[in-house]
Amino acid sequence: MDRPTTLITGASRGIGRGISLSLAALGHDLVINYAGNQEAAEQTARDCHRAATEAGHDIQTLTFQANIGSPQDRDRLLEATQDRFGRIDMLINNAGITSIGRQDILEAKEENFDQLMAVNLKGPFFLSQQIAKWMLKLIESGTVNNPKIISISSISAHTVSVNRADYCMAKAALGMMTKLYGVRLAAAGIRVYEICPGIIASDMTAPVKAKYDKLIAEGLTPMPRWGEPSDIGKAVAAIAQDLLPYSTGEVINVDGGFHLRSL
Ligand code: NAP
Repeated sequence: MDRPTTLITGASRGIGRGISLSLAALGHDLVINYAGNQEAAEQTARDCHRAATEAGHDIQTLTFQANIGSPQDRDRLLEATQDRFGRIDMLINNAGITSIGRQDILEAKEENFDQLMAVNLKGPFFLSQQIAKWMLKLIESGTVNNPKIISISSISAHTVSVNRADYCMAKAALGMMTKLYGVRLAAAGIRVYEICPGIIASDMTAPVKAKYDKLIAEGLTPMPRWGEPSDIGKAVAAIAQDLLPYSTGEVINVDGGFHLRSL
């Protein structure tokens, strides 16, 4: 088997599903991780097989429950990936939760902070560490070439929301994590990227849809539309196809121009 293997955390819904579909169309074998929503993960797998077939590929998928915030679950996820595919070409740190209760920074609770940081920051940091060590061995044995680690951060990495302090801080830290791993792994041939999505239609943003509909109509984003999970999938596909071969530790904004200041 010489097909590349990609592990996508939080691939049962939303952006993770969009990324999975893009990579299926490129012929990647996929590990579709999820937290609790098995049926949605199986739907992602079915959709991926269809997308792969339409593109002329025959892929394998593994749907796997694991809480990215738990060290034991990350170990299980790694072992399952090793047992099933024996290789890893890309890790996509996508799983994430929004700020629990969206409380003002002066009311934010420590237990909520810990829970969010475990999933949105500690999990990606240590999963990247485990996967990077495995990638180094795979490069040495000639099993994979130019593997990549991609983390899905957010415009919240650079945009203040005082009712989501923990979320903003975790996303900002993912940016530094990308630079750290980027430098540490560059010489070995592992490239590391951060993708910063803007306002993307998913279950996460569904509760605030009316608010963002209004803001987008009023000009919040230079491109006057919501982002779609497929927009993120296309950015990941560019990296997967080695179209950014001399970049690492880099942030790619997929936000309809939201990050641009204008007068
Ligand atoms: P979503 O629709 O809420 O989906 C979240 C996904 O993450 C689901 O697959 C969920 O699995 C999984 N997940 C949640 N907690 C997990 C855990 N502890 N372990 C493993 N998987 C877990 O979210 P989304 O909008 O697609 O967001 C995906 C990523 O993009 C997140 O990191 C988010 O912060 C980031 N992002 C989103 C937006 C946006 O506008 N939507 C913008 C910028 C950045 P289950 O289905 O099993 O629950």
